[in-house]
Amino acid sequence: MSRQNSHPEGRPAILANITQRILIGGEWVSAASNKSFEAFNPATGEVLTRIAEADASDVDSAVKAARRAFEGEWSRWTPYDRQRLLLRVHDLIEKNFEELATIETLDMGAPLQRTRGLKRYISQLLNFYAGQTANVAGETLPNSLAGNIKTMSIKAPVGVVGGIIPWNGPLISQWWILGPVLATGCTAVIKPAEDASLSVIRIAELLIEAGMPAGVVNIVTGYGHVAGAALSEHLDVDRIAFTGSTATGRKIIQASAGNIKRLQLELGGKSPDIVFADANLDAAVPGAAMAAFNNTGQICYAGTRLFVQRSIQDQFVERLSAFSRTLRVGNGIDPNVQIGPIISAKQLDQVMRYVDIGQSEGATLASGGKRLEAELGKGFFVEPTVFSNVTNDMTIAQEEIFGPVVSVIPFDNAEHALKMANDINYGLGGAVWTSSLSTAMKMSHGIKAGTIWINCYGQIDPGVGFGGYRMSGYGWKGGPQHVDGFLYQKAIYMNLD
Ligand code: ADP
Repeated sequence: MSRQNSHPEGRPAILANITQRILIGGEWVSAASNKSFEAFNPATGEVLTRIAEADASDVDSAVKAARRAFEGEWSRWTPYDRQRLLLRVHDLIEKNFEELATIETLDMGAPLQRTRGLKRYISQLLNFYAGQTANVAGETLPNSLAGNIKTMSIKAPVGVVGGIIPWNGPLISQWWILGPVLATGCTAVIKPAEDASLSVIRIAELLIEAGMPAGVVNIVTGYGHVAGAALSEHLDVDRIAFTGSTATGRKIIQASAGNIKRLQLELGGKSPDIVFADANLDAAVPGAAMAAFNNTGQICYAGTRLFVQRSIQDQFVERLSAFSRTLRVGNGIDPNVQIGPIISAKQLDQVMRYVDIGQSEGATLASGGKRLEAELGKGFFVEPTVFSNVTNDMTIAQEEIFGPVVSVIPFDNAEHALKMANDINYGLGGAVWTSSLSTAMKMSHGIKAGTIWINCYGQIDPGVGFGGYRMSGYGWKGGPQHVDGFLYQKAIYMNLD
């Protein structure tokens, strides 16, 4: 494995002290308590800046500002006006993309190679939601009532949306909330993750520059158990859109009960990635490796349970391990680096704990498994790790690790693979590598998950809905259904006699 640790060059302007950085009603202000906390670069341990620490009183001010904006000038904006806003911010994002990619890399560790590569995808997302502004429409419906009564439905924005964002890719994931909010005419209070808030703050600046009215999007940086909890409980928030762990999702469901909030929850995963002996292994080996190691394994739909047909297991593990060792791990500000650090010391400890558990439960450590402290200094680095001879009931096969660890589990035939693939609490994604159309279709229908990839992994298009089965959450992101979750539907009966 090649290891690189070049030093950051050029600091984005946002890294100047930003403690006065919660956005309420169009004004950047400090948290009411004046408290702040440090933002770290996970590749170096270096303090990047300080972030304002919002509490329940700041959340309350932000919700009030969002409510005022919802009922004010914004409610008179036409679909065309909102579409223009989305397209203007799209253009500003394109113009400032190098800075945004650098901020994301410094803040959450994903290599520049990855963050720079998100440009086209973010452009697609913004164009998609700009298009959705014109799709908010009701229907004229038939009825069998006596008299001359006509029936129709209309749609209206749901109101104030609380958006709680994870740290594993905020540059993208904030758009899964901001997109439908702006497309439908809702307003939002966004709570970025405490470990990666900077790209959310920078995007908010660009929204203001693009002409967003004050209060339409408000930003409260701070801790999940304080600011996030206050937002989920707030009685004047109509909907929560959340991406994060299943444990936190459960807390949000409980906190939202007070005013029966609408919820969209994208939670954890432990996705099966199934390789049949008839697959094109030249594609399946790197495909399966990156399904697990992309973004240092910190992706909810990562393909972490790698089912490999027994007849090719030894050969596959050997090739997978060899491929893993070629991956360049290091500080992602170096454009040659492919795998960045883990987000935090806490998360790294969790990954290392699972590596120990895997070995103690009898799995074979085929490659990786070491922290790269000595080689890479203070960053939170771990080698891409392959476990073989895993059984589906082992802890490393059942629990979400959220790090670059893949478990290879042998199977005998399609039925055997399917049984194990579905023997899990989650259901976010799944993949099949095969040259048989019949196997591909059979597995696509059989795997209990919201997205199935055949001979590929991880593609997510804004026009195609993404969501989960079981404890991976509910509600859709993307696709024609997504904006519906941000709308109320109202039926109208009109007596024309
Ligand atoms: P992780 O454990 O990987 O950090 P979380 O699900 O806890 O993932 O974090 C995702 C987002 O949820 C973050 O913005 C975090 O601050 C927020 N969060 C954490 N705890 C709570 C909570 N009790 N209520 C609301 N939001 C929370």
